[in-house]
Amino acid sequence: MREAYEADASGLHLVPDLVARPESIDEVVELVQKAARDQISITCAGAQTSTTGASITDKGILASLRSLDRISPPDEKARTIRVEAGALVGEIKRTAAAAGLLFAPDPTSEEESTIGGAIACNASGARTFKYGATRRHVRALKVVMASGELMEFRRSDLEKNTVGYAFAHDPIDWFIGSEGTLGIIVEAELSLLPLPRHVVGLAVLFSTEQDALNFVIATRESSTLSPRCIEYFDVGAIEIARSAAAAGTIPGDAAAMVYAEEEISDDLNSTLARWIELIEAITADFEPLVFDGEARLREARRIRHSIPATMNERGSKHRNSGGRKVSTDWAVPYRKLAEAIHAARSLIDGLGVEEHVIYGHAGNGHPHQNLIARDARELATIEAAVEEILKHVLTLGGTVAAEHGIGKLKRRWLPLQMNPLQISMMTAVKRELDPNGILAPGNIL
Ligand SMILES: Cc1cc2nc3c(=O)[nH]c(=O)nc-3n(C[C@H](O)[C@H](O)[C@H](O)COP(=O)(O)OP(=O)(O)OC[C@H]3O[C@@H](n4cnc5c(N)ncnc54)[C@H](O)[C@@H]3O)c2cc1C
Repeated sequence: MREAYEADASGLHLVPDLVARPESIDEVVELVQKAARDQISITCAGAQTSTTGASITDKGILASLRSLDRISPPDEKARTIRVEAGALVGEIKRTAAAAGLLFAPDPTSEEESTIGGAIACNASGARTFKYGATRRHVRALKVVMASGELMEFRRSDLEKNTVGYAFAHDPIDWFIGSEGTLGIIVEAELSLLPLPRHVVGLAVLFSTEQDALNFVIATRESSTLSPRCIEYFDVGAIEIARSAAAAGTIPGDAAAMVYAEEEISDDLNSTLARWIELIEAITADFEPLVFDGEARLREARRIRHSIPATMNERGSKHRNSGGRKVSTDWAVPYRKLAEAIHAARSLIDGLGVEEHVIYGHAGNGHPHQNLIARDARELATIEAAVEEILKHVLTLGGTVAAEHGIGKLKRRWLPLQMNPLQISMMTAVKRELDPNGILAPGNIL
């Protein structure tokens, strides 16, 4: 039973001393009060899809919140919805959509991850390009503090405020992205938007990577287009996408692909005409693939999801020899993306890595670079190269982790990006909210 909770999507395995599966908020309160009294660590988990080892532990209790999965009917007038932490993001989106409303955050893992996990990691996705990450869509949180006290935090509606330090204005923000280290989220009130009526997706294929990355910049800077996502696929990612798509959909000789979606405000033909004009300014080698209608958009999403899912599967095959998938999550200002990808490739070339893909949220300057290490020796070599890549990314004004958080795997890279003052401020907040350090030990700090 404890072994059932020893792994997430990081490739790490940590067996907890105890597992708790509370079924109500009261049971979470009781559990944390007891853990606080007995000084036992408590790491909470949603669906354990973390790629950084944040949802596993070998210290104390692993508390799975999956049973707290109630979703209330949306308040259509206020455009909000109340949910418990263990509800799946995909279920929340479907409940909102049935009322004509949109819960905008869209991590690729939305059908297999919880809202508690999404809030705790400030998850984002392809459409973050238009809508922002999860933080922007959280109105209120119920949090069980390290003492076991249940508190509610509501985002202020103020448009102006000069009282005190900015970081204390909206305490709700302390918990969003805190990876379980500052409190246990048990319930949330989320903001909803009107559901767009008609969305079209376009996959644009290129003969060279440079053309594709030029197209990303042209799309982002276009005054006639308003995409909600701009996703990039390199040649390795295209190969996986090709196997997931219907036979013959993706031509064999494309070197790179950009996938974008736009919510149609006028009509389909004029939207497509604006896109075609931009595409033809850069390439005329391939016909773009059009994804029109709900079923086709779902198909595009399934193809996109096949890339991290396939790379996770490939990585897990090498577990017995000490290998795994190495998943990077760096980002740079979008105009620096081509330079960053070029440098990242040249630091990997020559290492003999057989499976290496770069894909993802190019519109935000945020690709995922995934590499498969076949054994412990290759893992060490890849990790050393990744550290060099991250150092270069930082010289371009980038970040070492744009979406998946720090967890346990990326903790050693925190000081590359944050200076000692920033780290000691975070440590001070942690000490204030969790004086005995019982929450999610080993995550972030
Ligand atoms: C195939 C695949 C695709 C992915 N795609 C994306 C993507 O597009 N965008 C993205 O952002 N991430 C992505 N991820 C990473 C991961 O799915 C997200 O971070 C997700 O939000 C985690 O949710 P979870 O329920 O699985 O949380 P878990 O993995 O169980 O937990 C993650 C962290 O949140 C904490 N936590 C969980 N629940 C709570 C709670 N109730 N209160 C306090 N802390 C809590 C845990 O302690 C841990 O630190 C992907 C992962 C996979 C495997």
